[in-house]
Amino acid sequence: MADSPKYNLHSHTARCGHAVGTDREYVENAIRAGFTTLGFSDHVMLPWVSQPRIRGEYAMLEDYLFSVASLRKEYAGVIDIHTGFEAEWYGTIFKGYYQRLLLRDDFEYFLLGQHCFYENNAMHWYGNLPKDECTLKYRHDVLEAMDSGLFTYFAHPDIYISWRECFDALAEETAEAICAKAKAIGMPLEINCAPSRRGFWLRPLDENLLAYPVPQFWDIAAKHGVDVVIGVDAHDPSDYLITRLSWFVEFAKRHGLHLLEQCPLKAKK
Ligand SMILES: [Zn+2]
Ligand SMILES: [Zn+2]
Repeated sequence: MADSPKYNLHSHTARCGHAVGTDREYVENAIRAGFTTLGFSDHVMLPWVSQPRIRGEYAMLEDYLFSVASLRKEYAGVIDIHTGFEAEWYGTIFKGYYQRLLLRDDFEYFLLGQHCFYENNAMHWYGNLPKDECTLKYRHDVLEAMDSGLFTYFAHPDIYISWRECFDALAEETAEAICAKAKAIGMPLEINCAPSRRGFWLRPLDENLLAYPVPQFWDIAAKHGVDVVIGVDAHDPSDYLITRLSWFVEFAKRHGLHLLEQCPLKAKK
């Protein structure tokens, strides 16, 4: 790929409580930044689960879907807009809900973004677990998620290394397992741009300063020959303008990764 990707399927909205801007501003800035495809993938809204400032309330679901559908119609011919969610895999608990969403005409795709897990009627953070347990549980959960057939791609698969805070044997084994599975089932892995904007964007990006992408993980991904995509992970409309996409394209090249020219949404059943 000569220059930056023209698609981004990882974009949030203010509904999650930790993003800002109007839905329209995300679209306008994506166009300004040269994107021809924009997928909204806000943090999944879940029935009976309330996590203020982490995800929107379930009551916001219809407004979200209606807003994106309206923008999609309005901007047809200018930019292709898609409707999805970034979602964790919670085992079978929300599987039926996810499947029903995929049956709707106004909902298209899920990105796997595994931040927390659901146990004993409550949400828990992987990062709060003891380090080995954290990595092993993450590995178990994401491998199951990948096999569920629900997800278009896997967002920031290397996030577990930032919780582990080192790349040791267990981190390496986990990267091997994730990348082997991704290759086997043809699921793209996402190089995520979000940490690059947390104070690092004013100076040249340095792989060693970033929580992720973690270079060692992506060397393993390259060895397995997985497909990769770049995810802006926008939480502010201006993220489209300040993200150094060319740095991520270079990162992919430097690590010998196969960056997709387009990322097809997973076909709905
Ligand atoms: Zn977020
Ligand atoms: Zn995420």
